[in-house]
Amino acid sequence: MSEQRSKADSTSWQGFSTRAVHAGYEPDPQTGAVNVPIYASSTFAQDGVGGLRGGFEYARTGNPTRAALEANLAAIEKGTYGRAFGSGMAATDCLLRTALRPGDHLVIPNDAYGGTFRLIDKVFSQWGIEYSVAPVSDVDAVRAAVRPNTKLVWIETPTNPLLNVGDIEALAGVAHEANAKLVVDNTFASPYLQQPLPLGADVVLHSTTKYIGGHSDVVGGALITDDEELDTAFAFLQNGAGAVPGAFDAFLTLRGIKTLALRMERHSDNAEALVELLTSHPKIDQVIYPGLADHPGHDAAAKQMLRFGGMISVRVNGGKQAAQEFCSRTEIFTLAESLGGVESLIEHPGAMTHASTEGSELEVPDDLVRLSVGIEDAADLVGDVEQALS
Ligand SMILES: *Cc1c(COP(=O)(O)O)cnc(C)c1O
Repeated sequence: MSEQRSKADSTSWQGFSTRAVHAGYEPDPQTGAVNVPIYASSTFAQDGVGGLRGGFEYARTGNPTRAALEANLAAIEKGTYGRAFGSGMAATDCLLRTALRPGDHLVIPNDAYGGTFRLIDKVFSQWGIEYSVAPVSDVDAVRAAVRPNTKLVWIETPTNPLLNVGDIEALAGVAHEANAKLVVDNTFASPYLQQPLPLGADVVLHSTTKYIGGHSDVVGGALITDDEELDTAFAFLQNGAGAVPGAFDAFLTLRGIKTLALRMERHSDNAEALVELLTSHPKIDQVIYPGLADHPGHDAAAKQMLRFGGMISVRVNGGKQAAQEFCSRTEIFTLAESLGGVESLIEHPGAMTHASTEGSELEVPDDLVRLSVGIEDAADLVGDVEQALS
């Protein structure tokens, strides 16, 4: 049922935006509604026992608004199957519980998203899951971290918040040599800028809360794969554990996706304008942006990304205090966690998003500031950063 409906039905459309706007839903034959309705229904009438009209029985198992989103997510990642969750962490939890058993091992980035690290380190470790950390930018280091019981190689690229870049094709090779699966958390790049499945990844994970939703008004997550066996297991646990998004959340996420390409172009334009300012600014010691030729992952990023996206990290001259002052002086950039929305955000990872990594191998430098560059006017954003640093 929801399995069949989550299949991308639009693989013949090559253009990203055509898929983003149309995949997963056709105008309703009865009313002509061009957008999928918010099906606020927890249960679905049956014509005789087991006689499901649209394949739906109970909304934890499947809901038509969610099914449209799931088909669309599969299409924009050039994958076969998509599953939507109530948050990125719920998707992460589903993936870890599907792919790993007690005694198994996974490799994670040495600068993984704080919440991912916390879930693995504090929860999954209690259930006998072992992990090692390795820099995603170093293929040999990832290979060296693989053990006989490794079942997953987990990467983010670019990573959060240090924007390290992993070569997806090469790392898929490392995972597959070891009979492990490669998972790519594609949240920072978005499916518009980077599509890991055709490069050899087995699963793509998203926090759809970020660029995919794009408006900082909904929390969600997704798993996309071409592997039918994995998808069946995802669907089983999605229903079995029930970490599903509601119909309104699915609708908002789908609404966001329609403009993803336009937004990512603008995020990238604005980020480039700010990088130009920041690289020549005396109060900034280092600008970390994969689009810079001196970024160690620039070549890999240029190979696998369409553009370099809207995330910039900088190291501020003057340490933690100067970094936190910069964060509190901006006027257009809002001091807040999260990223990927239309509005620009600024944060201090060491004290905010990545506070849980303090004292661990994943601790981030305390002079680091992360910018999520929004879609406002570039001149205003440049002016705001200039005044905040002055
Ligand atoms: C935010 C984020 C997550 C977690 O997603 P939620 O929707 O907040 O649960 C996972 N990975 C990355 C890279 C993120 O930025």
